[in-house]
Amino acid sequence: MSEANGDARKDATSATRAAQAAVAASLPADDGQDFALARRGFLGSIPDADVPGAWSQRPFAFLEGERPDTINPSLWRQARLNALHGLFEVTPGVYQVRGFDISNITFIQGREGWIVIDPLTSAQPAAAALELVRRLKGDRPVTAVIYTHSHVDHYGGIMGVLSPDDIARGVPIVAPEGFLQAAVAENVLAGNVMSRRATYMYGGLLPKDPRGHVDSGLGKGTSTGKVALVAPNVSVTHTGQTLTLDGVDVVFQVTPDTEAPAEMNFHFPQFGALCMAENCTCHLHNLYTPRGAQVRDAKAWAFYIDEALEMFAGQASVMFASHHWPRFGKEDVRVDLSEVLAKAEAAKTRTGPCDEEERQVADGAALWTKAKSDISEEDYADFYRSVAGQFDKPALTLHYRAEGRHEYSVLTFIPETKPFDLFDPDRKGRIKLYVRRVFITDEAEILPRYLRFVRGLVDSADLTLNM
Ligand SMILES: [Zn+2]
Repeated sequence: MSEANGDARKDATSATRAAQAAVAASLPADDGQDFALARRGFLGSIPDADVPGAWSQRPFAFLEGERPDTINPSLWRQARLNALHGLFEVTPGVYQVRGFDISNITFIQGREGWIVIDPLTSAQPAAAALELVRRLKGDRPVTAVIYTHSHVDHYGGIMGVLSPDDIARGVPIVAPEGFLQAAVAENVLAGNVMSRRATYMYGGLLPKDPRGHVDSGLGKGTSTGKVALVAPNVSVTHTGQTLTLDGVDVVFQVTPDTEAPAEMNFHFPQFGALCMAENCTCHLHNLYTPRGAQVRDAKAWAFYIDEALEMFAGQASVMFASHHWPRFGKEDVRVDLSEVLAKAEAAKTRTGPCDEEERQVADGAALWTKAKSDISEEDYADFYRSVAGQFDKPALTLHYRAEGRHEYSVLTFIPETKPFDLFDPDRKGRIKLYVRRVFITDEAEILPRYLRFVRGLVDSADLTLNM
C-alpha cells in the first residue's frame, strides 16, 4: 500500500521512536545464542518456504534490513528468528521443519517410516514439509502421528501427511486424553469467536510490512490451507504411560490445563530427545490470552514443568518443542526448564484478577495508593460500593499506609447499613488481600471473625509473591 492508495499509516513519531529506544535499552545484550540454536543442524529448505495458496516467508524479506522505527526491537529480534526456515536435524533420527507455518512439524525416524509430531495448521505446508524430509532424509511412509495438544496449529494439517486410506487402515494417531473434547470446544464451538479474535490478536489481515504485520511471537502467523480435525485412535491417559510406535519407545507425561486443556510432553529414550509440546517455548507464553482461548492455569503449568524436570532432565540430551528452536545438551535442557518454571511461578500471581469487579480495582483504580488529600468523599464512597458490592455509603472510612519493617496500605470501610447476615456464624471475612496492587485472595481471614462486617482491602509490598 502507498500513500496514493489511501494508506493512512504514518512513520514513527518522535514519541514512538523514544519508546522503541527505551525498549532497546532495557533488553539484555544479544549474545547470538538463539540465532545459533535456530540455525543449528540446517539441512535445506525450499525458496522462501513458499507453499502456493497457503504460506510464504517472501513478504517478510524486509526483516533482512535494519530495524525500522515503527517496530519494537524485541519483536524485531523474535521476527528475525522466526523467519529462519527449512529442515533441521535436532539429533540424528529427529528432524524438524520450522518456518513453514506458525508451528513446527517434527519427524522421528522409526523402523519403517516417519513418526510425525504436530502436522501444522493446514495440509499444504504439512505436505511440503513431508516432501522435504523425504527428499533429504529418506522416502519413507508415515507410520504414526502424535498430536501434542488440542490447538489447531498442531493438528489441522493432518491430511497433508496421511491419506484417507491411511486413516481407514488405522495408522496410530496418538493424543492426550480429552484432546477431541478440548479441540471441539475451543476451535469448533467457540471457533468463530476464537478466529475472529485471533485476527485482531495476530494482525493477520494487516499488510505484511514494517508498518503492518511483522510477527506473532510464536511464529509468523498461521497458514491458510486446508484444515481438518481427525480424531485420534490412541489416547494417552496417564503420566508414565509408554508406547512403542514403529519400533520407537515413547514415555509420556500428561499435562492437562497447562498451555492447552489437553496437552502432553514426551521423551524418546532411544534418541535422548524430549518434546515439551507448547509448554516450554522460547518466549513467555501469555496466560490470559486476548484471543479468547481459555485462561491458562499458571499453577498447573508450573507444577508440570517441575515434574518434567524430575522425570526427564537427567536423561534428555536435547529438548525440542512445537514452536521455536531446540536446546542442546543435558545441562542446557535442565537450565531452560528451570527458567521456564521460574517464569511460570512468577506468573501465578500476575494472572489473578479475572472477574470484572477485581479487574476494575486492579487496573488503574488503585485508590488506596493515592494520597488522602487527593481523594474526595465521593471517590471513597464509589470505591466502597465497588469493592464491597454494597449500595449504601460507608459509615466510617479507615485509610492509612504503614512503612518500616513491613510496608502495607489499608483501606477499610464500616458499612452504614447492617448486613443481613451479620449474625450468621459461618459468614466469612470480606477483606481482600492485594500484593503490590495485584489481587491475591478474599479468603485470607485478615481480621478477627467478629470484625467480619468490615469491608475493604489490605495491600502489602512484603508478602512473598508465590503464596
Ligand atoms: Zn501452538
